[in-house]
Amino acid sequence: MELHNGLLFWPTTLVKKQHTNPEIKPYYDTIIIGAGISGILTAKALMDEGLTVAILERNELGSGSTSANTGLLQYSNDIQLHELCDLIGEDDAVRFYKLCYKAVDQLEEIALSLQDQAHFIRRPSICYASEKSDVKKLEKECEILVKHGFPAEFWNELIVEKRLPFEAPGALYTSSDAEINPYKFVVALAEQLISRGLDLFENTYANIIEDEGTHIILRTMNGDFKASRIVYTTGYERLPYGKMKGADIKRSYAIVTEQKPGYDGWYENALIWETARPYLYMRKTVDQRIIIGGLDEKKAKPAENGPKINIMADMLLDRLHKLLPGETFHAPYKYCASFGESLDQLPFIGQHPKQPNHFYLLGFGGNGTVYSMLGSQIIADLIMDRPNDDARIVSLNRKYGLK
Ligand SMILES: Cc1cc2nc3c(=O)[nH]c(=O)nc-3n(C[C@H](O)[C@H](O)[C@H](O)COP(=O)(O)OP(=O)(O)OC[C@H]3O[C@@H](n4cnc5c(N)ncnc54)[C@H](O)[C@@H]3O)c2cc1C
Repeated sequence: MELHNGLLFWPTTLVKKQHTNPEIKPYYDTIIIGAGISGILTAKALMDEGLTVAILERNELGSGSTSANTGLLQYSNDIQLHELCDLIGEDDAVRFYKLCYKAVDQLEEIALSLQDQAHFIRRPSICYASEKSDVKKLEKECEILVKHGFPAEFWNELIVEKRLPFEAPGALYTSSDAEINPYKFVVALAEQLISRGLDLFENTYANIIEDEGTHIILRTMNGDFKASRIVYTTGYERLPYGKMKGADIKRSYAIVTEQKPGYDGWYENALIWETARPYLYMRKTVDQRIIIGGLDEKKAKPAENGPKINIMADMLLDRLHKLLPGETFHAPYKYCASFGESLDQLPFIGQHPKQPNHFYLLGFGGNGTVYSMLGSQIIADLIMDRPNDDARIVSLNRKYGLK
Protein backbone atom coordinates (compact mmCIF):
# COMPACT_ATOMS: atom_id res chain seq x y z
CA MET A 1 0.00 0.00 0.00
CA GLU A 2 1.22 3.48 -0.84
CA LEU A 3 1.47 5.48 2.39
CA HIS A 4 2.31 8.92 1.02
CA ASN A 5 2.66 10.99 -2.15
CA GLY A 6 4.29 14.33 -2.83
CA LEU A 7 7.63 15.70 -1.70
CA LEU A 8 8.66 14.77 1.85
CA PHE A 9 11.06 16.90 3.87
CA TRP A 10 12.72 14.59 6.43
CA PRO A 11 14.50 12.29 3.92
CA THR A 12 16.37 15.40 2.65
CA THR A 13 17.84 16.03 6.11
CA LEU A 14 20.35 13.19 6.06
CA VAL A 15 22.32 10.95 3.76
CA LYS A 16 21.54 7.37 4.69
CA LYS A 17 24.48 4.96 4.81
CA GLN A 18 24.43 2.23 2.16
CA HIS A 19 22.82 -0.85 3.76
CA THR A 20 23.48 -4.44 2.69
CA ASN A 21 21.21 -7.13 4.05
CA PRO A 22 23.07 -9.50 6.40
CA GLU A 23 23.19 -13.32 6.19
CA ILE A 24 20.01 -14.88 7.54
CA LYS A 25 20.67 -16.59 10.89
CA PRO A 26 19.20 -20.09 11.36
CA TYR A 27 16.94 -18.86 14.19
CA TYR A 28 15.78 -15.60 15.79
CA ASP A 29 14.07 -15.13 19.13
CA THR A 30 11.84 -12.53 17.48
CA ILE A 31 11.18 -11.28 13.97
CA ILE A 32 9.65 -7.84 13.59
CA ILE A 33 7.73 -7.00 10.42
CA GLY A 34 8.10 -3.33 9.44
CA ALA A 35 11.07 -1.00 9.94
CA GLY A 36 9.38 2.25 10.93
CA ILE A 37 9.62 3.91 14.31
CA SER A 38 7.48 1.17 15.92
CA GLY A 39 9.68 -1.63 14.56
CA ILE A 40 12.96 0.01 15.53
CA LEU A 41 11.81 0.91 19.05
CA THR A 42 10.48 -2.64 19.52
CA ALA A 43 13.82 -4.04 18.32
CA LYS A 44 15.61 -1.90 20.90
CA ALA A 45 13.29 -2.97 23.72
CA LEU A 46 13.75 -6.66 22.85
CA MET A 47 17.51 -6.42 22.34
CA ASP A 48 17.77 -4.72 25.73
CA GLU A 49 16.23 -7.96 27.08
CA GLY A 50 19.02 -9.95 25.41
CA LEU A 51 16.87 -11.41 22.59
CA THR A 52 18.10 -11.95 19.02
CA VAL A 53 16.06 -9.86 16.62
CA ALA A 54 15.60 -9.47 12.87
CA ILE A 55 13.45 -6.85 11.15
CA LEU A 56 11.94 -7.46 7.72
CA GLU A 57 11.01 -4.33 5.78
CA ARG A 58 9.31 -4.48 2.39
CA ASN A 59 10.82 -1.14 1.29
CA GLU A 60 13.54 0.86 3.01
CA LEU A 61 14.11 1.66 6.65
CA GLY A 62 11.82 4.50 7.80
CA SER A 63 10.23 4.96 4.39
CA GLY A 64 6.61 4.43 5.57
CA SER A 65 4.55 6.83 7.68
CA THR A 66 7.63 7.51 9.77
CA SER A 67 9.05 9.77 7.04
CA ALA A 68 5.74 11.68 6.72
CA ASN A 69 5.36 12.09 10.51
CA THR A 70 5.58 15.78 11.42
CA GLY A 71 7.40 15.02 14.67
CA LEU A 72 5.23 16.58 17.41
CA LEU A 73 5.64 14.61 20.63
CA GLN A 74 2.87 15.36 23.10
CA TYR A 75 1.49 13.79 26.23
CA SER A 76 -1.96 15.13 25.31
CA ASN A 77 -3.86 13.07 22.82
CA ASP A 78 -6.38 13.70 20.04
CA ILE A 79 -8.92 12.58 22.61
CA GLN A 80 -8.69 14.93 25.58
CA LEU A 81 -8.27 13.45 29.04
CA HIS A 82 -11.77 14.38 30.23
CA GLU A 83 -13.26 12.77 27.12
CA LEU A 84 -11.17 9.63 27.58
CA CYS A 85 -12.33 9.46 31.21
CA ASP A 86 -15.93 9.40 29.97
CA LEU A 87 -15.07 6.65 27.51
CA ILE A 88 -12.87 4.24 29.50
CA GLY A 89 -13.06 5.48 33.11
CA GLU A 90 -10.86 7.93 34.99
CA ASP A 91 -8.30 5.43 36.33
CA ASP A 92 -7.43 3.94 32.96
CA ALA A 93 -7.61 7.28 31.15
CA VAL A 94 -5.21 8.93 33.60
CA ARG A 95 -2.94 5.88 33.51
CA PHE A 96 -2.81 6.12 29.71
CA TYR A 97 -1.98 9.84 29.83
CA LYS A 98 0.82 9.08 32.34
CA LEU A 99 2.21 6.46 29.96
CA CYS A 100 2.26 9.05 27.17
CA TYR A 101 3.98 11.57 29.45
CA LYS A 102 6.63 9.01 30.37
CA ALA A 103 7.05 7.98 26.72
CA VAL A 104 8.21 11.52 25.80
CA ASP A 105 10.90 11.23 28.52
CA GLN A 106 11.91 7.81 27.19
CA LEU A 107 12.15 9.14 23.64
CA GLU A 108 14.35 11.94 24.93
CA GLU A 109 16.66 9.47 26.64
CA ILE A 110 17.10 7.52 23.41
CA ALA A 111 17.45 10.67 21.27
CA LEU A 112 20.26 11.94 23.50
CA SER A 113 22.27 8.82 22.60
CA LEU A 114 21.95 9.44 18.84
CA GLN A 115 23.78 11.54 16.27
CA ASP A 116 22.46 15.15 16.30
CA GLN A 117 20.15 13.90 19.07
CA ALA A 118 17.66 13.44 16.21
CA HIS A 119 16.83 17.14 16.68
CA PHE A 120 14.84 16.33 19.81
CA ILE A 121 13.98 19.67 21.46
CA ARG A 122 11.70 20.18 24.44
CA ARG A 123 8.76 22.44 23.55
CA PRO A 124 5.49 23.34 25.24
CA SER A 125 2.21 22.87 23.38
CA ILE A 126 -0.56 25.40 22.87
CA CYS A 127 -4.00 24.11 21.97
CA TYR A 128 -6.15 27.10 21.05
CA ALA A 129 -9.94 27.17 21.05
CA SER A 130 -11.10 27.22 17.43
CA GLU A 131 -14.54 28.44 18.52
CA LYS A 132 -15.79 30.37 21.55
CA SER A 133 -17.90 27.34 22.45
CA ASP A 134 -14.69 25.27 22.87
CA VAL A 135 -13.36 27.45 25.71
CA LYS A 136 -15.34 25.57 28.36
CA LYS A 137 -13.93 22.31 27.07
CA LEU A 138 -10.37 23.63 27.43
CA GLU A 139 -11.08 24.88 30.96
CA LYS A 140 -12.45 21.47 31.89
CA GLU A 141 -9.42 19.77 30.34
CA CYS A 142 -7.03 22.04 32.21
CA GLU A 143 -8.77 21.30 35.49
CA ILE A 144 -8.51 17.53 35.14
CA LEU A 145 -4.91 17.68 33.90
CA VAL A 146 -3.86 19.78 36.89
CA LYS A 147 -5.83 17.55 39.28
CA HIS A 148 -3.72 14.60 38.14
CA GLY A 149 -0.39 16.42 38.27
CA PHE A 150 0.11 17.20 34.55
CA PRO A 151 1.72 20.55 33.71
CA ALA A 152 -1.13 22.63 32.23
CA GLU A 153 -2.33 26.24 32.32
CA PHE A 154 -5.44 27.88 30.89
CA TRP A 155 -5.01 31.13 28.93
CA ASN A 156 -7.92 33.49 28.45
CA GLU A 157 -8.39 35.68 25.38
CA LEU A 158 -6.20 38.47 26.79
CA ILE A 159 -3.25 36.17 27.50
CA VAL A 160 -3.59 34.66 24.02
CA GLU A 161 -3.53 38.19 22.55
CA LYS A 162 -0.31 39.03 24.43
CA ARG A 163 1.51 35.81 23.55
CA LEU A 164 0.34 34.68 20.14
CA PRO A 165 0.30 36.41 16.75
CA PHE A 166 -3.33 35.39 16.15
CA GLU A 167 -6.57 35.76 18.06
CA ALA A 168 -8.34 32.95 19.87
CA PRO A 169 -10.98 32.99 22.62
CA GLY A 170 -8.78 30.84 24.89
CA ALA A 171 -5.99 28.25 24.87
CA LEU A 172 -4.52 25.40 26.87
CA TYR A 173 -0.77 25.64 27.50
CA THR A 174 0.94 22.35 28.39
CA SER A 175 4.65 21.82 28.94
CA SER A 176 6.97 18.78 28.81
CA ASP A 177 6.32 18.04 25.13
CA ALA A 178 8.92 18.00 22.36
CA GLU A 179 9.68 18.12 18.66
CA ILE A 180 11.87 15.61 16.82
CA ASN A 181 13.06 14.63 13.37
CA PRO A 182 11.47 11.15 13.34
CA TYR A 183 13.35 9.97 10.26
CA LYS A 184 16.74 10.92 11.68
CA PHE A 185 15.72 9.22 14.93
CA VAL A 186 14.85 5.95 13.20
CA VAL A 187 17.89 5.84 10.93
CA ALA A 188 20.33 6.70 13.73
CA LEU A 189 18.73 4.26 16.19
CA ALA A 190 18.77 1.48 13.55
CA GLU A 191 22.50 2.10 12.94
CA GLN A 192 23.14 1.91 16.68
CA LEU A 193 21.17 -1.36 16.96
CA ILE A 194 22.85 -2.89 13.89
CA SER A 195 26.21 -2.30 15.59
CA ARG A 196 24.76 -4.22 18.58
CA GLY A 197 23.68 -7.19 16.43
CA LEU A 198 20.28 -6.30 14.93
CA ASP A 199 19.70 -7.95 11.53
CA LEU A 200 17.79 -5.51 9.29
CA PHE A 201 16.50 -6.88 5.98
CA GLU A 202 15.29 -4.18 3.59
CA ASN A 203 13.29 -4.93 0.43
CA THR A 204 12.06 -8.08 2.15
CA TYR A 205 8.32 -8.54 2.02
CA ALA A 206 6.90 -10.87 4.66
CA ASN A 207 3.77 -12.27 3.04
CA ILE A 208 3.87 -16.00 3.81
CA ILE A 209 3.80 -16.64 7.52
CA GLU A 210 3.45 -20.22 8.77
CA ASP A 211 2.82 -20.79 12.46
CA GLU A 212 4.11 -24.24 13.39
CA GLY A 213 3.12 -23.89 17.04
CA THR A 214 6.62 -24.19 18.50
CA HIS A 215 8.07 -21.73 15.98
CA ILE A 216 7.14 -19.51 13.03
CA ILE A 217 8.45 -19.68 9.46
CA LEU A 218 8.43 -16.56 7.28
CA ARG A 219 8.98 -17.18 3.59
CA THR A 220 10.29 -14.25 1.54
CA MET A 221 11.92 -13.66 -1.85
CA ASN A 222 15.19 -13.23 0.02
CA GLY A 223 15.00 -16.56 1.87
CA ASP A 224 13.18 -18.26 4.74
CA PHE A 225 13.31 -17.05 8.34
CA LYS A 226 12.60 -19.03 11.51
CA ALA A 227 11.68 -17.45 14.87
CA SER A 228 9.95 -18.12 18.17
CA ARG A 229 7.55 -15.25 17.65
CA ILE A 230 6.73 -12.29 15.41
CA VAL A 231 5.77 -8.69 16.08
CA TYR A 232 3.75 -6.81 13.47
CA THR A 233 4.77 -3.17 13.38
CA THR A 234 3.26 -2.66 9.95
CA GLY A 235 1.73 0.77 10.61
CA TYR A 236 -1.32 1.64 8.54
CA GLU A 237 -0.88 -1.22 6.08
CA ARG A 238 -3.48 -3.99 5.76
CA LEU A 239 -4.36 -5.11 9.27
CA PRO A 240 -2.98 -8.53 10.11
CA TYR A 241 -5.63 -9.12 12.80
CA GLY A 242 -9.37 -8.68 12.58
CA LYS A 243 -11.20 -6.53 10.06
CA MET A 244 -11.28 -2.77 9.67
CA LYS A 245 -14.05 -2.34 12.28
CA GLY A 246 -12.50 -0.36 15.11
CA ALA A 247 -9.88 1.23 12.84
CA ASP A 248 -10.23 3.86 10.20
CA ILE A 249 -7.66 4.95 7.62
CA LYS A 250 -7.86 8.57 6.51
CA ARG A 251 -5.48 10.90 4.72
CA SER A 252 -3.88 14.15 5.76
CA TYR A 253 -1.77 16.92 4.21
CA ALA A 254 1.37 18.70 5.38
CA ILE A 255 3.72 21.35 4.04
CA VAL A 256 7.21 22.42 5.07
CA THR A 257 8.22 25.99 4.28
CA GLU A 258 11.51 27.41 3.08
CA GLN A 259 14.05 28.48 5.75
CA LYS A 260 13.37 31.86 7.40
CA PRO A 261 16.59 32.62 9.28
CA GLY A 262 15.48 36.01 10.67
CA TYR A 263 12.08 34.84 11.78
CA ASP A 264 11.77 34.51 15.56
CA GLY A 265 8.71 32.33 15.56
CA TRP A 266 6.05 32.54 18.21
CA TYR A 267 5.77 32.11 21.96
CA GLU A 268 8.47 29.63 23.04
CA ASN A 269 8.29 28.06 19.58
CA ALA A 270 5.51 25.92 21.00
CA LEU A 271 3.79 23.10 19.16
CA ILE A 272 0.52 24.71 18.13
CA TRP A 273 -2.77 22.92 17.55
CA GLU A 274 -6.47 23.58 17.98
CA THR A 275 -9.73 22.16 19.31
CA ALA A 276 -11.43 21.77 15.90
CA ARG A 277 -11.61 18.28 14.45
CA PRO A 278 -9.89 17.63 12.12
CA TYR A 279 -7.34 20.00 13.57
CA LEU A 280 -4.59 22.13 12.15
CA TYR A 281 -1.15 21.95 13.77
CA MET A 282 2.21 23.61 13.31
CA ARG A 283 5.77 23.56 14.62
CA LYS A 284 9.19 24.92 13.75
CA THR A 285 12.25 22.96 12.66
CA VAL A 286 15.85 23.39 13.81
CA ASP A 287 16.73 24.93 10.43
CA GLN A 288 14.09 27.65 10.77
CA ARG A 289 11.28 26.22 8.70
CA ILE A 290 7.65 25.83 9.65
CA ILE A 291 5.69 22.62 9.28
CA ILE A 292 1.93 22.94 9.14
CA GLY A 293 -0.48 20.07 8.62
CA GLY A 294 -4.11 19.03 8.73
CA LEU A 295 -7.10 19.21 6.34
CA ASP A 296 -7.77 15.51 6.87
CA GLU A 297 -10.05 13.74 4.42
CA LYS A 298 -12.07 10.55 4.81
CA LYS A 299 -10.15 8.68 2.15
CA ALA A 300 -7.51 6.07 2.81
CA LYS A 301 -5.44 6.37 -0.34
CA PRO A 302 -3.11 9.37 -0.42
CA ALA A 303 -3.92 11.90 -3.16
CA GLU A 304 -1.80 11.55 -6.32
CA ASN A 305 1.07 13.92 -6.96
CA GLY A 306 -0.21 16.94 -8.84
CA PRO A 307 -3.13 19.39 -8.70
CA LYS A 308 -4.86 18.00 -5.58
CA ILE A 309 -1.76 18.16 -3.40
CA ASN A 310 -1.00 21.66 -4.77
CA ILE A 311 -4.52 22.89 -3.93
CA MET A 312 -4.37 21.49 -0.40
CA ALA A 313 -0.86 22.90 0.11
CA ASP A 314 -2.13 26.35 -0.93
CA MET A 315 -4.95 26.03 1.60
CA LEU A 316 -2.42 25.19 4.32
CA LEU A 317 -0.31 28.19 3.28
CA ASP A 318 -3.41 30.40 3.51
CA ARG A 319 -4.08 29.15 7.04
CA LEU A 320 -0.43 29.75 7.93
CA HIS A 321 -0.56 33.33 6.64
CA LYS A 322 -3.68 33.95 8.74
CA LEU A 323 -1.99 32.55 11.85
CA LEU A 324 1.21 34.53 11.24
CA PRO A 325 0.04 37.80 9.64
CA GLY A 326 2.69 39.99 8.04
CA GLU A 327 4.87 37.03 7.03
CA THR A 328 5.07 35.38 3.63
CA PHE A 329 5.97 31.73 3.24
CA HIS A 330 6.34 29.29 0.39
CA ALA A 331 6.10 25.53 0.58
CA PRO A 332 8.81 23.66 -1.30
CA TYR A 333 7.75 20.42 0.44
CA LYS A 334 4.12 19.31 0.27
CA TYR A 335 2.59 15.90 0.64
CA CYS A 336 -0.44 13.79 1.42
CA ALA A 337 -0.22 10.70 3.63
CA SER A 338 -2.51 8.02 5.01
CA PHE A 339 -3.00 7.82 8.73
CA GLY A 340 -5.01 5.53 10.95
CA GLU A 341 -7.38 6.24 13.80
CA SER A 342 -9.19 3.97 16.21
CA LEU A 343 -12.66 4.38 17.71
CA ASP A 344 -11.30 5.38 21.13
CA GLN A 345 -8.20 7.09 19.64
CA LEU A 346 -5.93 4.59 21.39
CA PRO A 347 -3.35 2.40 19.65
CA PHE A 348 -3.62 -1.36 19.16
CA ILE A 349 -0.90 -3.07 21.13
CA GLY A 350 -0.59 -6.64 22.35
CA GLN A 351 -0.83 -10.33 21.75
CA HIS A 352 -3.19 -11.94 19.25
CA PRO A 353 -6.00 -13.48 21.34
CA LYS A 354 -5.73 -16.84 19.55
CA GLN A 355 -2.14 -16.91 18.29
CA PRO A 356 0.11 -16.48 21.34
CA ASN A 357 3.30 -16.07 19.29
CA HIS A 358 1.94 -13.11 17.28
CA PHE A 359 2.23 -9.61 18.73
CA TYR A 360 1.08 -6.23 17.37
CA LEU A 361 2.17 -2.65 17.78
CA LEU A 362 -0.04 -0.48 15.60
CA GLY A 363 0.22 3.17 16.57
CA PHE A 364 -3.18 4.33 15.30
CA GLY A 365 -3.89 7.92 16.39
CA GLY A 366 -2.27 11.34 16.08
CA ASN A 367 0.26 10.60 18.80
CA GLY A 368 1.78 7.70 16.89
CA THR A 369 5.41 8.14 17.95
CA VAL A 370 4.51 8.31 21.62
CA TYR A 371 2.41 5.16 21.11
CA SER A 372 5.33 3.41 19.41
CA MET A 373 7.50 4.18 22.44
CA LEU A 374 5.05 3.05 25.12
CA GLY A 375 4.00 0.09 22.98
CA SER A 376 7.55 -1.20 22.64
CA GLN A 377 7.75 -1.46 26.45
CA ILE A 378 4.41 -3.28 26.66
CA ILE A 379 5.47 -5.73 23.93
CA ALA A 380 8.76 -6.40 25.76
CA ASP A 381 6.87 -7.14 29.00
CA LEU A 382 4.41 -9.45 27.26
CA ILE A 383 7.18 -11.34 25.46
CA MET A 384 9.25 -11.63 28.65
CA ASP A 385 6.14 -12.87 30.50
CA ARG A 386 6.22 -9.96 32.93
CA PRO A 387 2.92 -8.68 34.30
CA ASN A 388 1.85 -5.40 32.68
CA ASP A 389 -1.34 -3.89 33.98
CA ASP A 390 -1.42 -1.26 31.23
CA ALA A 391 -1.58 -3.79 28.40
CA ARG A 392 -5.34 -4.29 28.75
CA ILE A 393 -6.01 -0.55 28.10
CA VAL A 394 -4.59 -0.83 24.57
CA SER A 395 -5.17 -4.53 23.87
CA LEU A 396 -6.41 -5.60 20.45
CA ASN A 397 -9.67 -7.06 21.76
CA ARG A 398 -10.59 -4.26 24.22
CA LYS A 399 -14.12 -2.85 24.12
CA TYR A 400 -13.23 -0.39 21.33
CA GLY A 401 -10.55 -2.63 19.82
CA LEU A 402 -10.35 -4.43 16.50
CA LYS A 403 -13.26 -6.64 15.48
C1 LIG B 1 1.03 13.38 7.88
C2 LIG B 1 1.30 12.69 9.17
C3 LIG B 1 1.74 13.40 10.25
C4 LIG B 1 1.98 12.77 11.47
N1 LIG B 1 2.42 13.50 12.50
C5 LIG B 1 2.68 12.91 13.67
C6 LIG B 1 3.20 13.66 14.74
O1 LIG B 1 3.40 14.88 14.63
N2 LIG B 1 3.47 13.03 15.90
C7 LIG B 1 3.25 11.69 16.04
O2 LIG B 1 3.51 11.15 17.13
N3 LIG B 1 2.76 10.94 15.04
C8 LIG B 1 2.47 11.51 13.86
N4 LIG B 1 1.99 10.77 12.82
C9 LIG B 1 1.78 9.35 13.03
C10 LIG B 1 3.09 8.60 12.82
O3 LIG B 1 3.64 8.92 11.60
C11 LIG B 1 2.84 7.13 12.82
O4 LIG B 1 2.12 6.76 13.96
C12 LIG B 1 4.15 6.38 12.87
O5 LIG B 1 5.02 6.82 11.90
C13 LIG B 1 3.88 4.96 12.62
O6 LIG B 1 5.12 4.31 12.63
P1 LIG B 1 5.14 2.81 12.28
O7 LIG B 1 6.51 2.34 12.46
O8 LIG B 1 4.08 2.13 13.08
O9 LIG B 1 4.66 2.75 10.77
P2 LIG B 1 5.52 2.96 9.44
O10 LIG B 1 6.53 4.02 9.57
O11 LIG B 1 4.54 3.08 8.31
O12 LIG B 1 6.29 1.59 9.34
C14 LIG B 1 5.63 0.39 8.98
C15 LIG B 1 6.53 -0.32 7.98
O13 LIG B 1 6.05 -1.64 7.78
C16 LIG B 1 6.38 -2.01 6.47
N5 LIG B 1 5.57 -3.18 6.14
C17 LIG B 1 4.21 -3.27 6.15
N6 LIG B 1 3.83 -4.52 5.83
C18 LIG B 1 4.97 -5.25 5.63
C19 LIG B 1 5.23 -6.59 5.30
N7 LIG B 1 4.24 -7.49 5.12
N8 LIG B 1 6.51 -7.01 5.15
C20 LIG B 1 7.53 -6.13 5.37
N9 LIG B 1 7.34 -4.83 5.68
C21 LIG B 1 6.06 -4.40 5.82
C22 LIG B 1 6.08 -0.77 5.66
O14 LIG B 1 6.78 -0.76 4.44
C23 LIG B 1 6.53 0.35 6.61
O15 LIG B 1 7.84 0.80 6.33
C24 LIG B 1 1.76 11.37 11.59
C25 LIG B 1 1.33 10.64 10.49
C26 LIG B 1 1.09 11.27 9.30
C27 LIG B 1 0.65 10.45 8.14
